[in-house]
Amino acid sequence: PDVAVGAILAGAARRWGDRTAFHYQGQDISYAELARQAARFAHGLRARGIGRGDVVAIHLPNIPQFPVAYYGILLAGATFSPCNPLLPPDDLAFQLDDCGAVAVVTLDFVAGSLAQALKNTKVRTVIVAPLMGDAVDLSTLCDGAFAECGVNFAEIGAGQPDTFPEVDIDPRTDLAHIAYTGGTTGRSKGVMIPHRNVVVCSLQYACWGAGALPKLDEAGGLTLDQIGSEEEYPVRLGTGVLVNVAPWFHAMGTIGYLNMPMLNGSTVVVHPRLDVPAFLADMEKFRATTLGGAPALFSALMADPSFETRDLSSVRSISSGAAPLPVEMINKLREKFPDATLVEAYGLTEVTMGVTANPPHRSGERKAGTVGVPVFDTQVKLVPVDAEKVDDSTPGLPPGQEGEVCAKGPQVMVGYLNRPEETAAVLSEDGWLRTGDIGVFDEDGYLSIVDRKKDMLIYNGYNVYPRELEEILFTHPKVANAAVVGRPDSKAGELPTAFVVKSGEVTAEELMEYVNAKVIHYKKLREVIFVDEIPVSAAGKVLKRELRERL
Ligand code: ATP
Repeated sequence: PDVAVGAILAGAARRWGDRTAFHYQGQDISYAELARQAARFAHGLRARGIGRGDVVAIHLPNIPQFPVAYYGILLAGATFSPCNPLLPPDDLAFQLDDCGAVAVVTLDFVAGSLAQALKNTKVRTVIVAPLMGDAVDLSTLCDGAFAECGVNFAEIGAGQPDTFPEVDIDPRTDLAHIAYTGGTTGRSKGVMIPHRNVVVCSLQYACWGAGALPKLDEAGGLTLDQIGSEEEYPVRLGTGVLVNVAPWFHAMGTIGYLNMPMLNGSTVVVHPRLDVPAFLADMEKFRATTLGGAPALFSALMADPSFETRDLSSVRSISSGAAPLPVEMINKLREKFPDATLVEAYGLTEVTMGVTANPPHRSGERKAGTVGVPVFDTQVKLVPVDAEKVDDSTPGLPPGQEGEVCAKGPQVMVGYLNRPEETAAVLSEDGWLRTGDIGVFDEDGYLSIVDRKKDMLIYNGYNVYPRELEEILFTHPKVANAAVVGRPDSKAGELPTAFVVKSGEVTAEELMEYVNAKVIHYKKLREVIFVDEIPVSAAGKVLKRELRERL
């Protein structure tokens, strides 16, 4: 449907009403209450002159004020730009300046970096949520940095109507999100996503996951109608419970764990940061039906001593995305959750959230090590990595041949903000996006991500995909975590080098022998460096750039 994102909240509030949308630290917020608070927030923004065409950044961890602000911004007709609350001041200043944000929603606890980042930006209003209590003393917070521009979160909606404002939004062209790419491979870019893309992407995954079709109610609210049987889709609409720590400022969080639960009528138990024992305790306590996140979350949960003994038998579905899910980890998850369907999905910020997934229904075939097949209304094809251009006329490579993954569909971005050249380099006029990932299709049309073009290293002219070496390392019983990058070398170009976190006694030589016995000569590991941990981004991706810098 051609509707704005507010239709998701409107539909959820009418359909799920008193059901708990978010549970946070002993408090429940119902769908209806969320809609009222978001409506008041939207009116409050508009009363301050913020509306269509304005960008409002959210600089918050996952706390209940996040969804209020998110839907409030969109209902007001403004554009949401998510900022990781742990961004250093320089990076934050870059994003705020680049997207031209006029307002920022922050939390007192993380506001220090914002105070340093505001100079030279267009921000004139800073909305501050308190970590504790009802209000923040803005005259003293961060040495008075917000004394002029600050306003308490609760004040924005105070006294405002709790019905949605009447705003003219064109879902096809008005931007809902300007989301910055993770920056794991280079400087972050602002990805422009209109309302319709957010709605469509949420539906592409929610409908498939629930066995449902979208429907618009008489007042324009968007909900789902379950058509799939209970045997096929054991988590029924309106019964799901998800304990979530995936950040809402990242594509997977905004769509998968904020908009999709609205459509599904799921309850989200909110965890602002990963405390593994508390996370597992809540999964047990709330009888979680769904476990979702990046592979880094699963490995952290599985490494906890209580993982084996917890009763997690309520889990019916597991979804993984944002980074490769090692086959070894899939096997361990299947052992612990034999009755759950494990779905791996693939995407990037540039496609709102995703373009493929393994089939979620019970009888669908899920192939370990693949990211499944394209979701509804989406085309995916592979082209030679050095192809000059990609459009409708470019033929896709046959199964078994590796190439760059290209995607076309209604969830694909309209471009990078302020970067026409970089946009033209990855997005064709007829809508094909070059993802920068290298993949391969099997005979049944299932896609495997081989590696990222930028992570591929070249040894004596041969292409080496670090992921292949990492998959082998993961099968070694003494390897807890591993990442492979290239060490620059004047003769060979780059030498495959592994950073390894060990879980027992093992030497570098033993690990190199173990891996090198299984690969062709040019892929051999030349060095193993033991470390205490592998650096990951907030979204759970290995920061290879940081590892390369260490070399
Ligand atoms: P930047 O592009 O600035 O380096 P980033 O890549 O971290 O940032 P995202 O858009 O969050 O930004 O990440 C998308 C990338 O994550 C994809 O291009 C792909 O390489 C990887 N990815 C996502 N899902 C999967 C998956 N299921 N399997 C393998 N890789 C995945």
